Amino acid sequence: MLSFVISGLALNVMQVKTITPLPTSVKPGVVTGKALTDLLEHAKTNGYAIPAVNVVSSCSISGCLEAAKKCGGPMIIQFSRGGGQFYAGKTADNTNDAASIAGCIAGALHVREVAKLYGVPVILHTDHCMREWLPWFDGLIEANEAYFKTHGEPLFSSHMLDLSEEPLEENIETCKKYLERMSKVNLLLEMELGVTGGEEDGVNNEGVDASRLYTQPDEVWQVYKALSAVPNGQFTIAAAFGNVHGVYAGKIDLQPVILHNSQKYISEKLGGANKKPAFFVFHGGSGSSREDIRYAIEAGTIKMNIDTDTQWSFWDGIRQYEAKNRDYLQGQIGNPEGATKPNKKYYDPRMSLRAAEQSMAKRLGEAMADLNCVNVLGAN
Ligand SMILES: [Zn+2]
Repeated sequence: MLSFVISGLALNVMQVKTITPLPTSVKPGVVTGKALTDLLEHAKTNGYAIPAVNVVSSCSISGCLEAAKKCGGPMIIQFSRGGGQFYAGKTADNTNDAASIAGCIAGALHVREVAKLYGVPVILHTDHCMREWLPWFDGLIEANEAYFKTHGEPLFSSHMLDLSEEPLEENIETCKKYLERMSKVNLLLEMELGVTGGEEDGVNNEGVDASRLYTQPDEVWQVYKALSAVPNGQFTIAAAFGNVHGVYAGKIDLQPVILHNSQKYISEKLGGANKKPAFFVFHGGSGSSREDIRYAIEAGTIKMNIDTDTQWSFWDGIRQYEAKNRDYLQGQIGNPEGATKPNKKYYDPRMSLRAAEQSMAKRLGEAMADLNCVNVLGAN
């Protein structure tokens, strides 16, 4: 009798937050095509967003996968153009973005090999690409097409084009042209409209006119209309609503209501059956309140970029390791225990880098809690 009551209570507790079963297409490891859109629909339906983290080394990849495994949620691992170059090595020949392309491909192959060992679905993505950087983007699309020929799916899950500095018509036209090519190998496109303020990875929007930080619902509709006309075209929209890259002392005036208004506007244009037709992406969210984040998720935000805070957490892990073990890190031999004592086990790079991974995974776990992205995978 007692055990019956206890299990009944447990059932009631679980019913407070019921997550629908994960679609069977979504399996541990890198997801693309139908599995990817099924996962994004699962996120939208269940009210969570997936964190997206820019990685620069296998250590930051491990930090991401560790957080996803511990939290029981999916993860978006992404490479920036500069991050890809760093992954290849700073002295590798980068003529025509060769190292940026090679580094992203190498990182993607690394993630593909290890991700399934963590038992979580992973989305492989690349970050901002402005028009001048299209040779990098083109190189990645070629790699996807080659991978598709052999494996029947693209190497990456998705890529971002950020032509938000340009007039909307040109932005849409170029995105549509690329999506027509990408859709043939089941790649999803993330596009941006409006301007995310601040500075990130060499793109500086600090002096931009404030009105451009807030997108209009009709502009989002124009994007939706054009891109949904592409056969098999899958896309997400990073619509600016006052977001700013980086952490600033100044006041940030986020207006996630713009995303709600945009969904309503698009839904009405389409006939109203689907109340949230668009997938939204949240850039520049460092320092946002949990309320703003959750309100943006309610509006169909399924991806949030978590960059600045994870960069700090990686460094903070090393900083704390060094502070704790400083007396053992000043030479190969000699520490407070004796002038001839070896310090090898302290300066082994695995020690400080592991501290960085753990610190990063911890911070990402907090982000996943903010995003409702904890225990969302069920028993699948
Ligand atoms: Zn961004």
